[in-house]
Amino acid sequence: MSEERMLEHARPELAKASEDLQKFTMRESVVRFYARHEARLHHAVQASPQALACEAGCSFCCRQFEVVAHPFEVFEVQAYVTRHFTAAQLRGTIERATRNVNERKAATEAARLTLRPTCPFLVDHSCSVYSARPSVCRNYHSTDKDNCQKSFEDPFSTWPNTYADEVFHTAMGSSAGFKKAVEELGLDTRTYHLSSAFLEAMQSPDSAKRFKSGKRAFLKATTANFEAGAAS
Ligand code: SF4
Repeated sequence: MSEERMLEHARPELAKASEDLQKFTMRESVVRFYARHEARLHHAVQASPQALACEAGCSFCCRQFEVVAHPFEVFEVQAYVTRHFTAAQLRGTIERATRNVNERKAATEAARLTLRPTCPFLVDHSCSVYSARPSVCRNYHSTDKDNCQKSFEDPFSTWPNTYADEVFHTAMGSSAGFKKAVEELGLDTRTYHLSSAFLEAMQSPDSAKRFKSGKRAFLKATTANFEAGAAS
């Protein structure tokens, strides 16, 4: 049932994205996708009978999980940082991303479940790459901020998910549609941990070349556990 609801949003996005990817560059297509994605979310929020708790300055999502992104999103963040960050901002971001990577490396498999890495782009509870943030960061569907906090404080909590159903499915479907269109071009759509993929994108210009040629974009960056054959 929920898969069907996601497909309702995935299908139109797949059609639009496939069209865009023929006419525009990858970067232009990603920007166009983000605009459609946000419009869909806005519409779903307006139509939702459930009131949302998400608000500016709340950053549990940015500290709750290891943030993930596909290569086409990582390169968008990298382009933004390269264009807009000062040397000091860049240094700070690289330090925070490196800390996340090292903490993950040092942790056992079990301890990783309780890691709460703060996204390296979070500064004073605000996103420093806001207009270039990955699609997962554009989603907002919580109906209970207290539950977000409880889940943040207790990684093994069994607090029920409290989210606006339709908004959640709209976001998941929309993202899946764009990802599928990129996948159909034979390009890497793995889900990488943002800290490690960003570092690799900055350190190795070859990652963009590999992506464009249909190869695995990042060789060292770790992928999310739900990915088949994920590196840890
Ligand atoms: S990229 Fe921005 S919105 Fe996404 S987790 Fe990091 S700070 Fe939060």
